[in-house]
Amino acid sequence: MPQAAQSSSPTPLDDVLARIKAAIPPERLDDRGPQLLAVSKTKPAEAVQALLDQGQRHFAENRVQEAQAKFPALQQAYPDLVLHLIGPLQTNKVKEAVALFDAIHSLDREKLARALKSEMDKQGRDLPCFIQVNTGEEPQKAGIAPAQTAEFIGLCRTLGLNIVGLMCIPPFDEDPAPHFALLRVLAERNGLDQLSMGMSSDFETAVQLGATHVRVGSALFGARD
Ligand SMILES: *Cc1c(COP(=O)(O)O)cnc(C)c1O
Repeated sequence: MPQAAQSSSPTPLDDVLARIKAAIPPERLDDRGPQLLAVSKTKPAEAVQALLDQGQRHFAENRVQEAQAKFPALQQAYPDLVLHLIGPLQTNKVKEAVALFDAIHSLDREKLARALKSEMDKQGRDLPCFIQVNTGEEPQKAGIAPAQTAEFIGLCRTLGLNIVGLMCIPPFDEDPAPHFALLRVLAERNGLDQLSMGMSSDFETAVQLGATHVRVGSALFGARD
């Protein structure tokens, strides 16, 4: 976890980092701790800069085009900035995504897996990928069905993709805990140890249940329009 800069009054970043730390289960206190991804979608580059000034280095966006407008200059200025894609990825944006992002959290179908592998080979990049699982089996939501997860992980591994973990977005109106627990079981069964789960409203629950990456937007940047 990045150390927030010292300042007189605690910032939202200080607060979120402290809440993450307090939620880590005792048996995991020796680990490096969950990585906070600051979700900067709809927020201007100045808001990202303010968090960079406080020591935050991992950021997440859910649209390729928006990230392209905001991040290249910041990546130039901060070589240790790590940019994560957490939103749906169309295959016609794969080229730009592979060039711009450092990790993909929304791998959810075979066509995308194939396009990502071929583009990464072309660009000589090997981005860590999380497979998005539709734990609530919501018809309108992206993600692999829980029952299909093992098969899809196998396919991605056969293609040669660097699959590091699983990601989920629980149904809006449900207790997220069973969804986080399911994601963890699916990851463990498939030999994956990274879990991208938890947002502003539920990141402490996610950390308690083993999240390695929490995706927090409004708690850091304020509400979106
Ligand atoms: C917007 C978004 C987040 C952050 O949401 P907040 O509630 O603002 O913390 C996390 N994950 C995904 C996939 C998102 O699109």
